[in-house]
This record gives sequence, structure tokens and C-alpha cells, in this order.
Amino acid sequence: MTMGEKKIQPDISTVMLHEAYDPAGHLGATCMPLFQNSAFAHRTAEELEAIFANRAAGFAYSRIGNPTVNSFEERIRRAEGGMFATATASGSAAITSTVLTIFRSGDEIILPTGLYGGTIDLFRDLEAFGIHAVYVDPFTPENVEAAVTQHTKAVFAETIGNPKLNVIDIREIADCAHRLGLPFIVDNTTATPVLIRPLSLGADIVIHSASKYINGNGSAISGVIIDGGSFDWSDEKYAVMGEYQKYKKGAFSARLKNTIWRDTGPCLAPMHAWLNNAGLETLGLRMKKICYNASRLAEALMEMRGAFDVHYPGLPKSPWKELVERQFDNGLAGGILTFRTGSKEKAFSVINHLQYALNLSNVGDSKTLVVHPSSTIFSHASAAKKKAAGVYEDLIRVSVGLEDIGDLIHDFEQALEKCRKGEGQDGSGL
Ligand SMILES: *Cc1c(COP(=O)(O)O)cnc(C)c1O
Repeated sequence: MTMGEKKIQPDISTVMLHEAYDPAGHLGATCMPLFQNSAFAHRTAEELEAIFANRAAGFAYSRIGNPTVNSFEERIRRAEGGMFATATASGSAAITSTVLTIFRSGDEIILPTGLYGGTIDLFRDLEAFGIHAVYVDPFTPENVEAAVTQHTKAVFAETIGNPKLNVIDIREIADCAHRLGLPFIVDNTTATPVLIRPLSLGADIVIHSASKYINGNGSAISGVIIDGGSFDWSDEKYAVMGEYQKYKKGAFSARLKNTIWRDTGPCLAPMHAWLNNAGLETLGLRMKKICYNASRLAEALMEMRGAFDVHYPGLPKSPWKELVERQFDNGLAGGILTFRTGSKEKAFSVINHLQYALNLSNVGDSKTLVVHPSSTIFSHASAAKKKAAGVYEDLIRVSVGLEDIGDLIHDFEQALEKCRKGEGQDGSGL
């Protein structure tokens, strides 16, 4: 920057490469070293006492704090523009820790129906602890408001629902939640901070399964909770916060870090934090390429015989296109699309004939992934839950990767063609 030039907010890619780490503090090492140890020794008993009493900075035990994990937390905190970040062993652990910090038996949470299947399973399990999930469809402010009772403690949504691919209007729902005196928790896994920073639009807590785009190589399971420090928890409705209520907007992270997260033990492994740091350095680059590939593949699939009802929030025909343009940076619409094939058998045949796309239940890898949701991630869900989540028997979900787009389009073309030829003598197929 030359003298007098106006300081502009640096792009997330620049921040991830330069701002969240200082080599000077680590012998000049160009990235945060891996502290692969369980505990930290101190010369005197007094020193360790001060660390335990939160009177001195320092580390004691890696379940409670580790420099490599802290470095990952600091990077993602900056990426999302939050006040505090807490890393967890998985995205599911991030949701569990968040819920256990805010809820007690008898409480209710309001959610949309088109959620990640594992999250629906988690809320089913939490029923046994008296925590009730109240599903609302469509997820509009009016319907959220109508579902609120005296027991409601939070509103939860995913930025882009998976696999329904419905896009949530973050500001609208945040405003609605705040009018009702409730915090808004957003799972931003599928959009990532490259597309949107929900805290800046009014969300109070952001959650990630960092196993997906943040890690980016499919090399580690992990999660993170980013607290915007925007919701005041001092109301008696949140008496569960106990002594931490005095911190008002800091109460959630204080209780999370000092009790639930620390005591139930869902800490992130230092090695996984280290891998995620590497992932964050290329997140901006990868998301732009992935969104470009997904948009091109969606358009190409619309023209292919045997594929129909292509869903991608960035398609001009998508009901979410206008919101995508308004809400996401540069109109980027994410890396996930779905399409239908006519029957479960045809969906299986297409999946079996794909050469590059790997058949597995994950999203956000550098490689293109496909899955048949109905027989895998939604196999335990009732017919009603599948319908509500947009999971049809003939649906294929694609998590688009970083391959050359020409190669990818060709792969789907040849798989659909082989599927057609494999049925009926006339080869007419669909
Ligand atoms: C994968 C995923 C989760 C769960 O994360 P894990 O790291 O697998 O525990 C939660 N939400 C969304 C949107 C996901 O895609």
C-alpha cells in the first residue's frame, strides 16, 4: 500500500495467509507448528497455579487448550468476524456443545426441515434429555413466530440446507428471532465464510463442520463454534448460564469454554487443527472454483438426457436465485447440487458408472462426490422426514470438486448414457 491510499478491508484469502499468525513468535516458522502433546510442563507450582486460575496466559492440558488448536480458532474467528471461537472434534460435537450450553430439560429449539440428516438424528437423540426440536416448513418469520412458546430458547438454521438446497434469508430470520428475544444459531458449513458471514447479518452463533470445505481435502473430522458476542444472555430465561450471566453478551462462550466444552471433552486434535489451518489458506481460492464448477455442471445436467429436476441455488430458474444474488458474495451459490433420475435403480446405475465422482456420504472434498441420500444419510429417516427434506428415491446429490469442468461434465454424460443403454432394448431410457 502506498502512502495516502485508503485502507480497505482485506479479502478473506489475504487474511488467512497473513493476518492470523505471526512467524516471529515461532522461530520464523511460516505456518503454526503442530504442538502434538497432551500436557504442558511448568517450572514452578506457582506458574501452573496461575494458569489454572486464569491469572496467567499459558497451557496446561490439550483438552482445555493447545497452541495449534488456538491458532485454528483464531483464524476461523477472523474469517467469520466473531468475538470467540471454540474448536471441536466434529461438526456434530459443535452443535451438541452449543445446545448443551444454552438448553436444559423442557426447552425447545425451532428448526427448518431441510437439515443435514445427522443434525436431525442428533435432535432426535436429545429428546431423551428433554430438549425438543420443533420443525417449521417453510422457514419464514411468520411460521417461526407461530412456533414459539414460553419454552423456546433458540432458532437454528443452515445457510444452505442440505440436501434440500433451500437458502435461508439470514437477516430476516435474525431480525425475527431478536424480536422474539431469541438467539439465532447458523450452521454455515455449506456456504463457508467465503460466500457469507452470518454474524454480520445478525446471526449470534455460527457453527461449522470443518470436516467439509474448511479442511477441504477430506483429511480430518472437526468442527468449530464462533460466537458473535451479540446476544445478551442475562435474561432470567437463560438462568442455565448461572454465574456466567454476569458477562451478558460474553456469557455463552464463557459457560461453553469453562464448563460444557471443557468438561464433556469434545476437544479438537492438534493434528486436525493443523490440517484445517492449511485448508483455510486456500479456502477462498477453492470456493470460487468449486462454485464455478457447480454452476457449470448444473447447467450441463439440465441439457443431459436422463437427468431432470436439477437443483442448484445459482440456476436462473431456482427459487433461491434472487436471494443468492442479494446475500452471497459475488452471487456464489455453493458447491452442492442435486438431480433426479426416474428411479432408485437408475440413480444407482448412474452412480456406479461415474469414473471420477466418488460414491460416499460427505461434502466439501477437493474431489467430486456423489451419494444416494435416501439409502444412506436418510436411511433412518421416516418417509415424512425424507419428503420434508426433499429426499426422493431417485435423487442423487453431488458435491462438486476441483476437477477440470470439461472432464466432470463428460463423466456425468457418459454415466447417464451407460445407464440409458443398460435398460430396455430400444435404449430409449428416460
Ligand atoms: C457434515 C455436517 C455436519 C456434521 O459435521 P461432522 O463433522 O460430520 O460431525 C453438520 N452440519 C452440516 C451442514 C454438515 O454438512
